[in-house]
Amino acid sequence: MSKSSPIWHPFTQHAVQQEMIRITGGSGAYLTKADDEQLLDAIASWWVVTHGHCHPHVIGALKEQAEKLDQVIFAGHTHEPAEQLARQLLSCTPDGLDYVFFSDSGSTSVEVALKMALGYWHHLGEKRQRIVVMENSYHGDTIGTMSVGERGVFNQPYNPLLFDVARVPFPFESNAQNTLDELEKVCAQGDVAAFIIEPLILGAGGMLMYSAEILRAIYEICKKHHVLFIADEVMTGWGRTGKLFACEHAQITPDIACYSKGLTGGSLPLAVTMCSAAIYDEHYSSDRSKTFFHSSSYTANPIACAAAVANLEIWENEPVYDRIEELIKMQAAGLARFENDDRFTNIRQTGTIAAMDINVKDHGYLSDIGPRLYAFFQKKNILLRPLGNTLYSMPPYCVTQGDINQIYDAIAEAADELL
Ligand SMILES: *Cc1c(COP(=O)(O)O)cnc(C)c1O
Repeated sequence: MSKSSPIWHPFTQHAVQQEMIRITGGSGAYLTKADDEQLLDAIASWWVVTHGHCHPHVIGALKEQAEKLDQVIFAGHTHEPAEQLARQLLSCTPDGLDYVFFSDSGSTSVEVALKMALGYWHHLGEKRQRIVVMENSYHGDTIGTMSVGERGVFNQPYNPLLFDVARVPFPFESNAQNTLDELEKVCAQGDVAAFIIEPLILGAGGMLMYSAEILRAIYEICKKHHVLFIADEVMTGWGRTGKLFACEHAQITPDIACYSKGLTGGSLPLAVTMCSAAIYDEHYSSDRSKTFFHSSSYTANPIACAAAVANLEIWENEPVYDRIEELIKMQAAGLARFENDDRFTNIRQTGTIAAMDINVKDHGYLSDIGPRLYAFFQKKNILLRPLGNTLYSMPPYCVTQGDINQIYDAIAEAADELL
């Protein structure tokens, strides 16, 4: 095998995929390739881009901030972009999330959430140390987030480093009561610190969807047993599910919530972990040992915060909800084309996210149907990246009917040629 580049790409097996697609620009729902062809970004560049690439308002804001203040230590110091963003976040997130802790990736925001939860019980003097998770979940690729995520081929070598958690089954429609019963049982043991969940959709686990009623029932069991409820809205946040945050569908306020990906509109890395006053207050003490000992070098980077502020202004000043409503309808119509096609199963949608499974015998992430489809779509200049045998699209909200047609036409052609 020739090794032409020193770069080690994420989630890439370089022995079978040598050619990287070189991207030179981005605008709206499109990326520009080095050969000047336009690539339709049907997965929002790994679920981060919301209003479109290089939105002028975001780019303007980060340019302006970059000329004033690029970076400053956030321990003992503060700055306007972070202050303004925190105020805006408090007003747009569910009531009861009162404090904002900044970091720089979804994984880190989850690590922070887990530490907040354990710290809360520790400082309170109650021995609750167990974390409960849902099967098939994904919360990131760091050691702690792998521990609370699904175990499998992705993390097998690292198993010795992962900590034990309790698991409840995913609430498939036929199985939802079982999930609730299992959760009830484990929470009743009294040693559970927190339950962490991806509300409404398990993303990397295969776009598995469950109802707002189930989410609410899960939340109520946690509340009944004083188990902290951590919502990982890293993917589901910022409009993907049709509301700003997925928890709104169930009218619940988590004790801790993680937001990242679309927080800057998809322009710069930034994350926040928000929590209730109760959790903050338990760390608030003249006893310095109760300090929340966590930091990233770039905590609340001013340029990233300015981008996030601009993102929130777009939500206020542009008809983003109308675009989302349109997109939800377009996705539903696109999926409907495959309703009676037995090459596809589990056709499903939550908000702007549409998914279906390819009816192949060889399931699982390492099934070769995914890479073959990916290559087919690339030839058609569409960026779609199946998860195993799950085909999904999650475009930026600026896509047009023409763009959506392109996606579903290409899926139909792919089915005829490859399935
Ligand atoms: C992507 C994702 C993460 C990890 O975010 P990174 O920014 O990639 O570290 C965590 N949780 C969920 C639900 C995600 O989809």
